[in-house]
Amino acid sequence: MNKTHLGHTARKRFGQNFLNDTFVIEQIVDAINPQDGDNLVEIGPGLGALTDPVCERVNALTVVELDRDLAKRLRHHPFHGSKLTIVEQDALKVDFAELAKVDAPLRVFGNLPYNISTPIMFHLFSFANLIKDMHFMFQKEVVNRLAATPGHKNYGRLSVMAQYYCKVQPVINVPPGAFVPPPKVESAVVRLTPHTTPPVQVSSVKTLERVCTLAFNQRRKTIRNSLKECIEEAQLLALGIDPTRRAETLSLQDYAVIANWVDEHDN
Ligand code: SAM
Repeated sequence: MNKTHLGHTARKRFGQNFLNDTFVIEQIVDAINPQDGDNLVEIGPGLGALTDPVCERVNALTVVELDRDLAKRLRHHPFHGSKLTIVEQDALKVDFAELAKVDAPLRVFGNLPYNISTPIMFHLFSFANLIKDMHFMFQKEVVNRLAATPGHKNYGRLSVMAQYYCKVQPVINVPPGAFVPPPKVESAVVRLTPHTTPPVQVSSVKTLERVCTLAFNQRRKTIRNSLKECIEEAQLLALGIDPTRRAETLSLQDYAVIANWVDEHDN
């Protein structure tokens, strides 16, 4: 299998699968719709598959790249080098508040390494109030989970938490053949737009996360069992939530009601 693209050999430890399909790249850039004046940040620019066409449309772009060799290549980019601000760092450790500007919220995008896509997303959720939108390439299965609604087999902790922070819109599916080297799985691009007002009020996001984790870790059990360490059956009934339901039937609103009760009672 060919692992070399534009003279660079893909490094597995950095999750490098480079986009190599002009039609797909154009569709992604159209979905991002970069405009001059936008505060654009790309995570993992790699060999510039998305960086180049975005730079053709705007005058400034910040990129976060962990691979030193790739960051160096970008620094010496013959056409777009001067437009780029290069942050040579692990995106998981970047303080995105430092990149945000008062008058221009962040617009983040990237074809992310699949092994760290969920941690990067949660890291970015912690800056959700500074972000206008995000466009990410993930495994298709992850996009399905992000967008899933109650009652669906893909519905889980990731769906509840992502939908608490953002509006989730799958944009396009991308086959393995669009990359060098091709990944083993199907991919998809998703648009995540942080809510200006959260769809539900929660007193602690950490508690919401804890309740979802407990419920979905034992998704076959009824919630009176899976949640018993933080809430009793009688309390679920008092909140109007049937304790014989299973995790996948509860809405974000239901989880918020439970989490707020747990938080209030310090359980
Ligand atoms: N954007 C390019 C493309 O679409 O062809 C490259 C995508 S490749 C799937 C992922 C990129 O993320 C690589 O350039 C890799 O070096 C970079 N990367 C991996 N881990 C990273 C991290 N923790 N922080 C920032 N960049 C990372």
